[in-house]
Amino acid sequence: MADTAMERCEVKRLFLVNGAKEPRWVNVAVTDVANDSEAMIRCAYCHGAIKFNKGGDYVLHRWRTDGDNCQGGHGPRGAQGLSSKPVN
Ligand SMILES: [Zn+2]
Repeated sequence: MADTAMERCEVKRLFLVNGAKEPRWVNVAVTDVANDSEAMIRCAYCHGAIKFNKGGDYVLHRWRTDGDNCQGGHGPRGAQGLSSKPVN
């Protein structure tokens, strides 16, 4: 079964905190980062690796096991666990 397409993801951005650059994950629309080939992205729910579909308007889990356990994929709603290979 194909994974479920998600329209939002998290992207790593650097913020200036007390004069030091600090990376933070920010929830964004997939279309906001689709053209940014440098962007580090992950699933907003399970923090697993994701990939763009061909058109760049959706993301899918890279690993099927993530999608099966994630509420952004086929997993149960409300009982969210983290990916076995989270992107940090
Ligand atoms: Zn996920």
